[in-house]
Amino acid sequence: SLKGKAAVVTGSTSGIGLAIARGFAKEGANVVLNGFGKPEEIERTRSAIESEFGVKAAYSPADLTKSDAIGGLIALSVETFGSVDILVNNAGVQYVAPIEEFPVEKWDQIIALNLSSAFHTLRAAVPHMKAKGWGRVINTASAHSMVASPYKSAYVAAKHGIVGLTKTAALELATHGITVNCISPGYVWTPLVENQIPDTMKARGMTKEQVIEDVLLKAQPTKEFVTVDQVAALAVFLSSDSASQITGANIAMDGGWTAQ
Ligand code: NAD
Repeated sequence: SLKGKAAVVTGSTSGIGLAIARGFAKEGANVVLNGFGKPEEIERTRSAIESEFGVKAAYSPADLTKSDAIGGLIALSVETFGSVDILVNNAGVQYVAPIEEFPVEKWDQIIALNLSSAFHTLRAAVPHMKAKGWGRVINTASAHSMVASPYKSAYVAAKHGIVGLTKTAALELATHGITVNCISPGYVWTPLVENQIPDTMKARGMTKEQVIEDVLLKAQPTKEFVTVDQVAALAVFLSSDSASQITGANIAMDGGWTAQ
């Protein structure tokens, strides 16, 4: 049980992050939600977590591409719940274009969000974890942290980068009761995947069905999408005491994609 723990999950108004936040809440943790969306929908999501699981849920609108907003996200957890015990760096965006047409501002945004934000949250959260002699950091990487696909230069670079950050932090924190790991899903059916289909159709001249069958699930030997609840279950396990010797790892959950 994670009763009494405080978990900050970035990018948790949708998709994988929301499932992870709900997974922690189900185990009794208080959670800090973060991400964008319609205020009334976010409030509904937040209050549903409180009423379904009997925990407290706070929300931070911090834009994680802005390094100075990130301190406020961690501070909200410390002020509201007295600590940050579990940190999940999950917020991420995708952009699909050939390198020579890749907008520079998209490159900068993806590196800032998918990679640098995890450095800034770690920097702010680690002192609180060290003080308690316990902590769990989980970074949502991707199969694209292990292998590449064309037209995803910024995303693949950021996801490979976060594995390096994960290993470094794991070594620095190894004697402090703090583990740092990556979860690397293959294709999970979320808005992030759904929204990249039109650009992939354009970049490759394909129909929607061809993109799903010949691009997305082509790489995934099981021919099935990963579910957000499966990713959440792994995050809950990595936060348990049974996982205390798993650190610096990059765990694939990709239907066999990176076995090829
Ligand atoms: P999603 O689009 O459903 O959710 C992304 C979340 O990030 C949302 O809550 C969004 O509001 C938030 N966000 C976006 N920009 C932000 C910003 N500047 N500041 C703060 N929050 C911001 O996507 P998802 O599929 O759930 O992806 C979550 C993570 O999982 C990402 O890091 C993604 O790269 C990774 N991932 C996804 C898949 C997949 O197939 N869906 C596969 C592997 C890895």
